[in-house]
Amino acid sequence: MAQKPERLFQAEALGNVGTVGNPGFTSFFKCAECDGDIPERRRQAVPGCRLCAACQEEQDRKSHLS
Ligand SMILES: [Zn+2]
Repeated sequence: MAQKPERLFQAEALGNVGTVGNPGFTSFFKCAECDGDIPERRRQAVPGCRLCAACQEEQDRKSHLS
């Protein structure tokens, strides 16, 4: 089980994970959810993004519900 970086905990505490990415983090090459490729353009447009566009959309929808 991998330890989360301290800064990720802080980002989660602020409640902005999954919606605005994590500035300062390297964007993932593969989606954390479906393991699909994250396009270079998306990686640059959303610094620190962890999800592909489809999974990001899905997560945004969930976070709006809760
Ligand atoms: Zn995905």
